[in-house]
Amino acid sequence: MENTTEQIYNLKVNHLNKMRIAVIGAGAAGLAALRHCTSQSNKKSIEVICYEQSGDIGGTWVYTPEVGRDAYGLSIHSSMYKNLRTNLPKEVMGFPDFPIPDNDKSYLTRTELLDFINTYCDHFELRKYIQFHHHVVLVKPLDGDNMGKWSVEVEDLEKKKVLVEVFDAIMICNGHYFQPNIPELEGHTSFKGRVLHSHDYRVPETFAGKKVVVLGAGPSGMDLALEISKHAHQVILSHHLKVPILTKFPSNVIQKPDVVQLREHQAVFKDGSKENVDTIFYCTGYKYSFPFLDKNCGVKVDRNMVTPLWKHLLAIESPTLAFVGLPYYVCAFSMFDLQVRFVLRFWQGFKKLPPKENMLAEESMELKKKLSEGLHVQQFHMMGSKQGLYYEDLAKTADLDPLPPVLTSLHNESSQKFIDDLLNYREDRYKIIDDHTYVQL
Ligand code: FAD
Repeated sequence: MENTTEQIYNLKVNHLNKMRIAVIGAGAAGLAALRHCTSQSNKKSIEVICYEQSGDIGGTWVYTPEVGRDAYGLSIHSSMYKNLRTNLPKEVMGFPDFPIPDNDKSYLTRTELLDFINTYCDHFELRKYIQFHHHVVLVKPLDGDNMGKWSVEVEDLEKKKVLVEVFDAIMICNGHYFQPNIPELEGHTSFKGRVLHSHDYRVPETFAGKKVVVLGAGPSGMDLALEISKHAHQVILSHHLKVPILTKFPSNVIQKPDVVQLREHQAVFKDGSKENVDTIFYCTGYKYSFPFLDKNCGVKVDRNMVTPLWKHLLAIESPTLAFVGLPYYVCAFSMFDLQVRFVLRFWQGFKKLPPKENMLAEESMELKKKLSEGLHVQQFHMMGSKQGLYYEDLAKTADLDPLPPVLTSLHNESSQKFIDDLLNYREDRYKIIDDHTYVQL
């Protein structure tokens, strides 16, 4: 090969040396990254190391009764609770080349899902690429001749020492359900009862006999209001949806507008009503957080929008940095797989990045469109019913096998059922017939 290094924007593709890629995190996204970096066709051209701060794979799906800090003093990452069953059918939760095997139900328990992730990891023999108990503390861009490369500082938690390694590219797969978002309500410091965020929720029994305000009616708020209602005296589901949620709740669950103020033992709601309550339970979501990113990496988080990124994925200022898994209300594992394949097409030089100005313009046009549809900046990475367009765009742009449209249609049906019939939707069973069709059994 004559010309060994090709300059694509500031992304250098070296056709002779192996590309060194670091993957941060061994949850489902990190495993999808490993699966493709180590595939038969990429094995010869990529050297990959995955750093995982915990002792296990699976990220979110690893349940621990512990809250707060782990044995090494790190914040507990997983927000998993003991009784969780998935809120999506398994038919849309697998990987494109590794679906979840058929069994007698569609909505799995957390242990079944974690077992599946372990089977995926073992099937593709990924464990040997993971360095467990390795906590990434700093990811810093290099300059000069090393422009486009990264220095990664990793703490080996068991040996208590810090290593520094240089990589050509980084896939950030650190999840986004670990940094609680807690709104500062007026009077919050005067409240004398129990205060909890869903990140630290594990079991419903601790709510026995209590009167609880659940703040937020997203998937967690709805699911947890229902779960704790089996033990609590009363649950007040407080939210700012324009119309009340019509799904049937147990009789001890009522709905109220936003909480505007907290007093010693009282919550005051936007409609002026007041309730004496024992517990404030924040189900108010999470913040995107990348505590290891150096300030010069060219990406910031603005009101929960990670920016500037091309297609919610590649850092526009430094495209050897990829954020896998930011979009939400998606078929997560399939999307991770597609995003990783997309990134590798560009990093390996099969596709060329558009000019920087075009990528920036694309991001701002998408933001403008979302704002004009009534969404907030905070919802920039939300896909929901439009997720199919995102998948199509990724596949088309990088000439990749697309995801089957049936994933989106079944995801949409299940999400609607969740809203319409929270008490029973998990009894439904589905079967995918082909790329466009599913049936309810
Ligand atoms: P994670 O699973 O969070 O993995 C990130 C990994 O990165 C972790 O192992 C973490 O230890 C590691 N890490 C983080 N920082 C560092 C660092 N600095 N150094 C080294 N390692 C690091 N999705 C669905 O599709 N269906 C569901 O039913 C569903 N239910 C959910 C229920 C709950 C309670 C939650 C919180 C999420 C749920 N999700 C669900 C979304 C779920 O998070 C995704 O499906 C998916 O598992 C996320 O994978 P991930 O790899 O992006 O992140």
